[in-house]
Amino acid sequence: MTGSLDTAAKAKLLRTLLDGGLPDANGRFGPFGGRYIPETLVPAFERLTEAVHTVLHEPSFQAELSAELTDWVGRPTALSPMRNLSRRWGAEIWFKREDLAHTGAHKINNALGQALLAKRMGATRVIAETGAGQHGVATAAACARVGLPCVVYMGEVDMARQAPNVGRMRLMGATVVPVVTGDRTLRAAIDEAFRDWVTDPAGTFYCLGSALGPHPYPYLVRELQAIIGREARAQMLAKTGHLPDCVIACVGGGSNAIGTFHAFLGDPSVEIIGVEAGGRGAALGDNAATLTTGRPGVLHGTYTLLLQDADGQIQETHSVSAGLDYPGVGPEHALLREIGRVHYTMAGDEEALALVQECSTYEGVLPAIETAHALVGARDYARAHPGKRILVGLSGRGDKDMPTLQTTLLAHDGVLS
Ligand SMILES: *Cc1c(COP(=O)(O)O)cnc(C)c1O
Repeated sequence: MTGSLDTAAKAKLLRTLLDGGLPDANGRFGPFGGRYIPETLVPAFERLTEAVHTVLHEPSFQAELSAELTDWVGRPTALSPMRNLSRRWGAEIWFKREDLAHTGAHKINNALGQALLAKRMGATRVIAETGAGQHGVATAAACARVGLPCVVYMGEVDMARQAPNVGRMRLMGATVVPVVTGDRTLRAAIDEAFRDWVTDPAGTFYCLGSALGPHPYPYLVRELQAIIGREARAQMLAKTGHLPDCVIACVGGGSNAIGTFHAFLGDPSVEIIGVEAGGRGAALGDNAATLTTGRPGVLHGTYTLLLQDADGQIQETHSVSAGLDYPGVGPEHALLREIGRVHYTMAGDEEALALVQECSTYEGVLPAIETAHALVGARDYARAHPGKRILVGLSGRGDKDMPTLQTTLLAHDGVLS
């Protein structure tokens, strides 16, 4: 499918997207997306889709969400000029500071929105999957805030690797269920959450953590994260009188990136770049660069680009950042790549770690290792385009990464050149 659209078809898809016409009624972003689910889950997805269409844009829901985003999450997050990195890289660097949002990353925008939607739908409990634990923590916090019980599925491998986040979830009242099936990481945790949902589709709300999965999740998550780009665009205009020349964010499942990009898709002068995890190299299994190296297929209920072998077997992925370590990607990104509106590149483990150090040392901002992939993209763009104005989606803070940083950057003398 990928590569099969002609120029006219691509232009038409971009216009439809800008007019708000995507996803279509079948949940498709052009050839990508859709809904591939077992019969037993169809009623639950129908109910959720109905709620998304009726409740999400209702003024009373938007007012409640907006008040909570201000009073509890701490929005709007700052737009910071990064003067030292600007000087070092020879361009004008701005950060949209999702690291300053409650729980330390953009994930809370989505978790809070879905928890409020669950409440409106009359759900009696919320379930979620988590890999590194960041979405689990955000969901546990949002559920505590809105007063709903929360169950988080987490692979037992990840529970061992991310023990502090397991503790955070438990302190906020969530039940963390170890997943011992499959690869015992994020992929298996998503399967297990769907299995739970089948047993109580009416009373349970599944809070999914990225712009992934069957329709309507990619749409729902994008709508909840699009506030990042809306705020950043307005802040940029207010502070500089201009749009950025380039907008850059890191891409795991794609939620912070789609949220940062969306407000700029209709600005033809703005270049948009997504940066994936290049891991330790280009070979299958050594990275999580789905958009750069993947082929189309179905995973977790959506048709998108995937890291798979010639027989269609989904491959293990590798990245130093747990939050980018997923073999699929949101279907809207697959479309944006296909029609050429967004360019996707990759940054390797070593480069990302170097940028964690550079950003911390010169700006006093410790970024998440995920986020540092976007910084690699920003530095490379700056060097190739001197003087340009670059907006970076600073998706989260790196405090959670201290155990990894202790055994990498801090174990040697650092990798600054
Ligand atoms: C989870 C996470 C990501 C990756 O998820 P997306 O859905 O691609 O945004 C990126 N940055 C941070 C800080 C994260 O916690």
